[in-house]
Amino acid sequence: MSSDCDIVAQWLSEARSAVTFTGAGISTESGIPDFRSPGGVWSRTQPVYYDDFLNSADSRLEYWRQKSESHVDFSDASPNIAHQALARWEAGRQMRGIITQNIDGLHQIAGSQSVLELHGTAREIGCLDCNSRFDADLMVTQFNETGEVPVCPHCSGLLKHATISFGQSLDETVLREAIGWCRDADLFLAMGSSLVVQPAAGLPTLARESGARLVIINREPTPLDHIADMVLHAGIGETIAAIEKAMIGAS
Ligand SMILES: [Zn+2]
Repeated sequence: MSSDCDIVAQWLSEARSAVTFTGAGISTESGIPDFRSPGGVWSRTQPVYYDDFLNSADSRLEYWRQKSESHVDFSDASPNIAHQALARWEAGRQMRGIITQNIDGLHQIAGSQSVLELHGTAREIGCLDCNSRFDADLMVTQFNETGEVPVCPHCSGLLKHATISFGQSLDETVLREAIGWCRDADLFLAMGSSLVVQPAAGLPTLARESGARLVIINREPTPLDHIADMVLHAGIGETIAAIEKAMIGAS
């Protein structure tokens, strides 16, 4: 594996608009469960669909109950060595930014500034009417104490975690920017994603078709392995650490 990591390190040092794409696999190494995996929350609980949230007070209560329960999964989690290395690569201008499927905010906590969150963030609560944002910790604590679904303090509108719910469309602005990055990318590192959930899974293909080198780092095979320039079936943290070491060794 080390010679493969040397090659990726070389590609990264040559790249002018490298983009990283991250999925649940980078956060499971921080102890955050993958909610889509067998045994994950959606194999045990029926998620609340967006339309039901809008139309039913009972669904909103169920939504807040579920979200408050899963909040503890990441409220105590810390970025791991992979999040930290990616933040250093951005600061060192080796990487343009990160497109992520994760909602845990760990990239920003690690120091990354250029992050496109395709599925939003569970660190904030958004008002569906006036778009005000609030800190999720405070509102989840309030919900746990009162058992009452909060309403917007500014306009009494509906409050929901700033994540994309089942049945809700992705944020067009975020998606458009991610597509732009993929078109401009000369290196695309996909890590910790099974690359099966659309439209996110289309982004590595778009980058590859636009001329980027495609590197896939994931423990399990993905449907895009056959179009990648390099595939590393390994843990994210150990692989990123080996790539970073090779970059430092070569500089
Ligand atoms: Zn509001």
